Amino acid sequence: MFNAQDLNFSFQLIRWQRVHGRHQLPWQNTRDPYAIWLSEIMLQQTRVTTVIPYYVRFLRYFPNVKSLSLASLDEVLALWSGLGYYSRGRNLHKAARLIVSIHQSKFPQEISIIKQLPGIGPSTAAAILVFSYGKRYAILDGNVKRILARYFGVKGYPGERKTEALLWKKAEELLPKNNVKGNIEAYSQGLMDLGATICTRTKPKCAVCPIHLKCVAFQENRVDKFPIPRPRKSLLVKEAVMLMIIRRGMVLLERRPSKGIWGGLWCLPEMPANENISQYCAHCFGIKIKQLIHIPSVDHVFTHFKLRIHPRFIQANSKFSVISQSERVWMSFSKTMEVGIPSPVRNLLNLNFPHK
Ligand code: SF4
Repeated sequence: MFNAQDLNFSFQLIRWQRVHGRHQLPWQNTRDPYAIWLSEIMLQQTRVTTVIPYYVRFLRYFPNVKSLSLASLDEVLALWSGLGYYSRGRNLHKAARLIVSIHQSKFPQEISIIKQLPGIGPSTAAAILVFSYGKRYAILDGNVKRILARYFGVKGYPGERKTEALLWKKAEELLPKNNVKGNIEAYSQGLMDLGATICTRTKPKCAVCPIHLKCVAFQENRVDKFPIPRPRKSLLVKEAVMLMIIRRGMVLLERRPSKGIWGGLWCLPEMPANENISQYCAHCFGIKIKQLIHIPSVDHVFTHFKLRIHPRFIQANSKFSVISQSERVWMSFSKTMEVGIPSPVRNLLNLNFPHK
């Protein structure tokens, strides 16, 4: 039996998407699961306008899963550099290698198998199946959670397990029952387009929203109350002293361990705040400091904490430069453009210092 509300929801959304939705994004008008997968991963937590140049460049370098599987992690992270959430790039690379080795380079079509690949959650797996194969699955990314939380007036923070489970149930119930003429694609794209252009986080355009007649938040004039925000916790602040050590126009960089923040990326070395900087540099890097400049601190916000970076610019005496670790290198500034470096570190490298 059709529920009148659900029927109305999908019908209105599909009709709206066909006329007012987006149809020319670089990842549309293809059935290639690799290209669709890449777009879904890049679009997580990132705006369309930011993603487009990264997406186009990435596909140019790695046009298919085979070419990505043959790339080094450094090449992948260099193309990801500046996009943030680097675990996405690492997982994409890992998953590409698994698809080649286990699935003979063919993207799997079973949702249970796709979800086992690194970095692919239930909503991403569903979106790949919808847009590549026209399969009938519900999506529930951040935008869709916001729409449904408002539409149904859901009283819980969508990040909580119970509320999320309720939203999944709603998302599944609302799916168009009749999957003809590309309905599921238009419906899923409609949800994405509505979240990006109409039911936005701030100042939603309810007057032109195709589902406003039955939207609880709109009808009760409480749009600003949904979705319920994350319960407030003060953000933990971590401090790091970062050393930008320059010698003969080269900068000392070290690769971070593959697990943890900025895993696998190249960063400036850090030192404990309570150490003597001259002794530390002599002991750890075999250098003598010729010039030391304290650069004003910068904050970088992660999901669960804030990193306060205290940068120190050091011009090193060129006589001493013993580097014993393979994950630590002197790198020319032109070479730094070709490797994966997190944005706040790249900003520091872009500062205009003498002797660079
Ligand atoms: S009516 Fe407003 S709040 Fe409700 S779904 Fe549409 S845009 Fe969002």
